[in-house]
Amino acid sequence: MKQSRSCPVCESMVATLLHYNELAPIDMLDMSYSLSECNNCNFIFADKLPSNSQYLFYYEKLSKYDTQVTVSDVDRYRTEKAVSFLTERVSKDATILDVGCGFGVMLSALRDAGYTNLSGIDPAPHSGLQASEQFKFNEISQGTIEGINKAANLSEISLICLMCVLEHLPDIKSNLSNLAKQLQYGTKLMVEVPALDLYDGTGGEPFGELSIEHIQYFTATSMTNFLNSLGFKIIDAELFAIPHLKSGSLFVLAELSTEIQKIAPDRHTKMRDYLRNSELRWQAALKNIPDELFVLYGAGSHSARLVPKLTEKQKNNLVAVIDGNVNLHGKKFGGWEVEPPEAIKKYSELSILISSYRSEKLIADSIKTKFQNQKLKLMYSDV
Ligand SMILES: [Zn+2]
Repeated sequence: MKQSRSCPVCESMVATLLHYNELAPIDMLDMSYSLSECNNCNFIFADKLPSNSQYLFYYEKLSKYDTQVTVSDVDRYRTEKAVSFLTERVSKDATILDVGCGFGVMLSALRDAGYTNLSGIDPAPHSGLQASEQFKFNEISQGTIEGINKAANLSEISLICLMCVLEHLPDIKSNLSNLAKQLQYGTKLMVEVPALDLYDGTGGEPFGELSIEHIQYFTATSMTNFLNSLGFKIIDAELFAIPHLKSGSLFVLAELSTEIQKIAPDRHTKMRDYLRNSELRWQAALKNIPDELFVLYGAGSHSARLVPKLTEKQKNNLVAVIDGNVNLHGKKFGGWEVEPPEAIKKYSELSILISSYRSEKLIADSIKTKFQNQKLKLMYSDV
């Protein structure tokens, strides 16, 4: 039974349902959730979540975070912007701890910008090794935000970075208030989250902001409320648009302070417009599902959202599910077992529906190099 969450910003238990994000079970794990808006402070968050142990299982066994070792153009752009935001505001002698640092993309960029006291922690077991190999950066240890004091001496840290972390945490309020209790006044916090202020359902992946992993949807106002509720005062905040994705990031620099701040309700967020526009484009994309037997390429968030929307006839037509993520091979996706891309040769007569927004052309090209005559169906070329 999925439990209701209290609002991660103001802890009110009264919220309004905006949307049900139904997702097909992956390896028997149902990661569906409700999208709720707090009636008190208007923060929008994922409610009725899977349990913590299900999230841990998902990140350990199924997520592709641990298998990605290349830096995408978008991540490079975000990192550049984050580093220039910091260099304008934080001196080079700062002692910086990057929590949830991945394989050190941000840390190595900070090093290249002239910072020298740098370390990071990440839950993924191979992050440290990957950072050494890829960036010659050797200061990453394995750890989580809950166990942060075991991995770092917090009294020596002057800046903590949480880059693309807060939108993921099921226990965000207790994680961050425990962290704040262990910090000295004056310690700074740099945060990056996807910015609800920049959501735009007229482009990008329909409902793509409601992924399996993202369960908090911050605006500049609600992030201010959240950090204020933990005792941080805002030093500066900036929105960075990523125009071709119709989305972007919010960067906030804050400082632990003794001042008490009030919560200001966050009216008129863009979520309702985003949901409405996503629905229109989603319906248009669904028209590209083949009307005959087909194979689905992709077993991530996009397919998890797609499969529950298939009609009975389309479900009967769906023969197989393929994905490149080795963590998924052999696992159940909805009622199908995920097969590796090589399995396409078994289905040479069938159309392949490419279930991805960002990578549909890339996937189509890579299938074409190995299986020239395969019929391919894209969902977004005309949406
Ligand atoms: Zn609230």
